[in-house]
This record gives sequence, structure tokens and C-alpha cells, in this order.
Amino acid sequence: TGDGDNIIETRGLTKEFLGFVAVRDVNLKVKRHTIHALIGPNGAGKTTVFNLLTKFLRPTSGSIHFNGVDVTRTAPADMAGQGMVRSFQISSVFSHLTVLENVRVALQRPLGISFHFWKPRRTLHPLHERADELIEWVGLTPYRDVNAGELSYGRKRALEFATTLALEPEMLLLDEPMAGLGHEDIHRISSLIKRVAANRTVLMVEHNLSVVADLSDTITVLTRGSVLAEGDYAAVSTNPSVREAYIGG
Ligand code: ADP
Repeated sequence: TGDGDNIIETRGLTKEFLGFVAVRDVNLKVKRHTIHALIGPNGAGKTTVFNLLTKFLRPTSGSIHFNGVDVTRTAPADMAGQGMVRSFQISSVFSHLTVLENVRVALQRPLGISFHFWKPRRTLHPLHERADELIEWVGLTPYRDVNAGELSYGRKRALEFATTLALEPEMLLLDEPMAGLGHEDIHRISSLIKRVAANRTVLMVEHNLSVVADLSDTITVLTRGSVLAEGDYAAVSTNPSVREAYIGG
């Protein structure tokens, strides 16, 4: 059960690969309606934690609670129904479809996956109205009828956000949302993430530390599969062991 403020709580989360401990005894608490970043050097176990949370991997030991419910044994496909969606793996953009068509496809998808998606709000919105709303929300209205394949990288990512939000997640897991983006797009996607987090929870793995500093309420630093430090950017960036292990002394 645990603290109602936390949308995610892991206890003793551990993952071994053939005896190699990739994630060791991680007790992660993610507070509702915050932006929480997972950082650490390559091989620290960030991706493995993501894969455990989204159920693509089964933990060797430990548990995962989502919204107070033990989801340790929940199937990956059911996590979206629980309200947890991972971008940008799940939401693929179809390049031969327009922006509008992509969002419409995404809006129709949940109905096939799980009954949980029948939320009252959805039934109030005709599909096209909701699609236009999402497109506007991510700033793609001028590109509504453009094929997704013709969009710039940053706009494609904005479209990925729209298709992810179509699933009405309570929590988004973002896997390096800024990877491959230039300054302007980083700015655009950052403000999107901030708006997303106003009434949702975001957990992200991100290498760009200025983005992490700008966006995160809480940062968990992993090294060699274990939590080295946790706190806001000021606390974490001045932590001597973090400087030594992560920033490099
Ligand atoms: P990060 O995302 O922080 O770079 P990963 O979670 O990808 O770290 O990896 C953590 C450690 O676990 C690494 O040493 C990696 O080689 C190892 N690892 C990850 N996945 C597997 C796997 N499927 N089999 C064996 N070792 C793995």
C-alpha cells in the first residue's frame, strides 16, 4: 500500500542477468505530479529500471507498486490500462499517415486494448474533436494534414507526445526525450513536458543535464545498479560522491 503521494514505489527491486546484478535493491519513490529524472553513467541500470517498471523485464526480486497496487506480476500490455505509458517505444509514428491520421489511430487504439480506457471524459469528446485538441496542445495545428514522414525531428517528437497522450496516461515514462534534438526543439519539448506534468507524472531517463536541471523536481542517481543519491538538482549536483562517480571528480 504505502504513501498515497507516490504513484510508484519499488521495494528492493533487483535484476540479475546470469548472475550479473544490473539493478540492486532499488527503492524508488516517484511522487505524483512531479517530473522525476533517472540519471547515471552508461551501464548504471537506468534502462533496466525502465524495463522493470514497464514490465518488459521481470525482477529477480523486489516489488513494484503503482498507485498503491502491486503490479510486480502485471503483464506489460496491462500497464497502459493501469495508466502507465512508455514513450517513445510504444507510440510509433506512421510516416505515411498525416498528423491527424496518426492521432486518430492512437485515439482508437486504447479501445481495443483495455476496458479501463472507457473514462467518462472520452465519451464526451467525439474522436475528431479530441484529435484536434491534442494536435493543438502539442503545437502541430499548422501541420495537421502533413504526412508525419515530412515533419522535422522535433515535430515528430511532438507528434509522438500527442499519440502518447491519446492513451490518457496518468504517468509517462520518457526514454531520452531530448536525444537527437537541437536547441530549439529541446526548448519546445521541455515546455511540453512541463505542461504534461501539470496533471500527470513523468519519469524520464535523460542525458542532457541542463534539461534535467531545468525540468526535474527530483533526481535519482544510479551507479552500478544502485541508488547513489537522490534529491533536487542543487542537492544532487553538489553531492561529492555524485561528482566523483557521475560527473567525474
Ligand atoms: P543504462 O541504461 O544505465 O546505460 P542498462 O540498464 O542498459 O544501463 O544496463 C545495466 C547493466 O546491465 C549493464 O552492465 C548492461 O551490460 C547489463 N545488461 C543490461 N541488459 C542486459 C541483458 N539483457 N543481459 C545481460 N546484461 C544486461
